Amino acid sequence: MPSIKSILTDIQTLPLNQVEELLSYLEEFLVSNSQVEQIYEDVKEFRFSKGKVCPHCSSELISKNGKYNGKQRYICKDCKRTFTDFTNSAVYRSKKSLDKWLKYAKCMIMGLSIRKSAKIVGINIATSFFWRHKILDCISAFLGTGHVDGLIEADEVFFAENFKGTKTINMPRESHKRGKSIKKRGISKEQICVATALDRQGNLIIEPLCKGRMTYKELENLYKGHIGENSILCTDSHKSYIRFATDFNLDHKRIKTGKHKEDIYHIQHINSLHSNLKRWMGRFNGVASKYISNYMHWFKWLKIFENDKDSIKTKNFIVQSNVVYAYTKVKDFKLRTLQFV
Ligand SMILES: [Zn+2]
Repeated sequence: MPSIKSILTDIQTLPLNQVEELLSYLEEFLVSNSQVEQIYEDVKEFRFSKGKVCPHCSSELISKNGKYNGKQRYICKDCKRTFTDFTNSAVYRSKKSLDKWLKYAKCMIMGLSIRKSAKIVGINIATSFFWRHKILDCISAFLGTGHVDGLIEADEVFFAENFKGTKTINMPRESHKRGKSIKKRGISKEQICVATALDRQGNLIIEPLCKGRMTYKELENLYKGHIGENSILCTDSHKSYIRFATDFNLDHKRIKTGKHKEDIYHIQHINSLHSNLKRWMGRFNGVASKYISNYMHWFKWLKIFENDKDSIKTKNFIVQSNVVYAYTKVKDFKLRTLQFV
């Protein structure tokens, strides 16, 4: 091993641009190492904030069971199974180190492609794909549907159905090359309807709901229990919202198409959210519809935490994707289908 003294002597012989390169490498190295430590602590704290429970059977009869690869192991006295602080989290069963996942999280926050992220992190493209969706499955579970309150704007946004990655001999038609958005006029069953609701505190609900136009029933199923009492609902003239607002006792402001901002009741925030969402989705070159909810939750996460510093974002993204028990096996991805048909 070279001594620190000889390294320091060597550094003095390097051209300035390489010294700068070295400096940024060291900075990243130090930040990443301290973040990895912090992630272990945060995940433990989050997961077991109400005492340690077994991730397999939820029993509280737990005892320590030695260490494995430097990680504390536990055993459940009820189901006799062992677990660690990361069992059934996004990184569970990964042979790669946590700092690679951290680097990957950084790529996701920047919205880089599967290919580009693979190259930066040093993993293959298939792994890059699975990591993206393992993380997003967990982030989706972590975020849940959410809750909106007060002055709420609600509207739907549509994405062309896309069969990418679905192997079937009876494909209904050619899949769209890009996830083109479609004007509301002429909505058909070939479009995925994503319901969105945004309040003025920035709370957001964004969930794929159905194919084609939504019905009252679908609207009710989504929002029941997720909208604050005495809220004011601003929507366009879609009929389903009228009954919904009546049944849920909400004050309803219907905004006519093309009408401009009039005092505080408008749907301009949700309209601009839709434009941002479509622009952001454009970068992915067509998203398979069976994964659309993961993309919606990814966008939601970025929106909710947009004001955080990048280093905090990266750390929290990984912490949150390891707090919930939502581990997906590779073979489960192959079997995945669209949640509604
Ligand atoms: Zn158990």
